[in-house]
Amino acid sequence: MENLLEVKDLKTYFYTEDGVVPAVDGVDFELKPGQTLGIVGESGCGKSVTSLSILRLVPNPPGRIVEGEILFEGKDLVQATESEMQHIRGNDIAMIFQEPMTSLNPVFTIGKQIMEAIMLHQNLDKNAAREKCIEMLKLVGIPRAEQAIDEYPHQFSGGMRQRAMIAMALSCNPKLLIADEPTTALDVTIQAQIIELMKDLKDKLNTAIILITHDLGVVAEMCEHVIVMYAGKVVEEADILELYTDPKHPYTVGLMKSKPSLDDNRDRLEVIPGAVPNPLDMPEGCTFHPRCPHAMDICREKQPHLINNEEGRKVRCWLYEKEGEVK
Ligand code: SF4
Ligand code: MG
Repeated sequence: MENLLEVKDLKTYFYTEDGVVPAVDGVDFELKPGQTLGIVGESGCGKSVTSLSILRLVPNPPGRIVEGEILFEGKDLVQATESEMQHIRGNDIAMIFQEPMTSLNPVFTIGKQIMEAIMLHQNLDKNAAREKCIEMLKLVGIPRAEQAIDEYPHQFSGGMRQRAMIAMALSCNPKLLIADEPTTALDVTIQAQIIELMKDLKDKLNTAIILITHDLGVVAEMCEHVIVMYAGKVVEEADILELYTDPKHPYTVGLMKSKPSLDDNRDRLEVIPGAVPNPLDMPEGCTFHPRCPHAMDICREKQPHLINNEEGRKVRCWLYEKEGEVK
């Protein structure tokens, strides 16, 4: 099957007064139609900037895509014109964010906002758009959709607002949905409901999804494939089962240990010691070395490459690479 999306050696830097921040520093991944890819890492690892780059929504200045390709159905979005991007956003690629209140306009009804998106991207008149909107509200499980369509965002609960955002994003049948921390602002019960909803919609609509999260539990629920990012780089990539049963990179292992789980009764989570490095002052060698329990001399001097190890697993770590054997 052809890839829907191919990101190749993507570099997105921010040019600040204090220096250059390599927020995304040579990221590669691929996505097939209908596939769900999780991008995992702590805040500041570059996962959100990766998704903003795909939509060409990185604020410029100070941000800029400095290198790489983002091939969407074979077309390089890095080279696309702004008007081409406007067509692609919403039509082919839609995005939902953590806090729907920032993307919903408080002065317009939910229905007006979703209908506007539908009318802008599909050739439908007002009545047909209203019908489609009610259909979408029902699809995402909003009760009393016929009335709810005329309500304002503040009349919706947080969970219902996120459902409305999902309805808006999906109303134009995008080929790719990018969901950036879609459940983080919600309480645990509502989180579980939204995840269920997204799983259900993914099966029904066959939309490819990039799910961005710091929460490995959410990834396990939804994704087939995962990339783990640290300090702007991919440090591990694997199928979900492989990653869970046998994480390779010491950072992934640390993330696993700090993952809360409903059925474990550890009274304290193990948190990875240390902090994400200052992007203006990245450590030499492996950027994870100040926090890594396995750091060796070479780790402090030379950057490891993202390699395919003997088992065919992609990992960026000297433990799996022999010096001089560059691939
Ligand atoms: Fe740890 Fe070295 Fe691997 Fe970096 S390269 S994760 S410091 S063992
Ligand atoms: Mg983010």
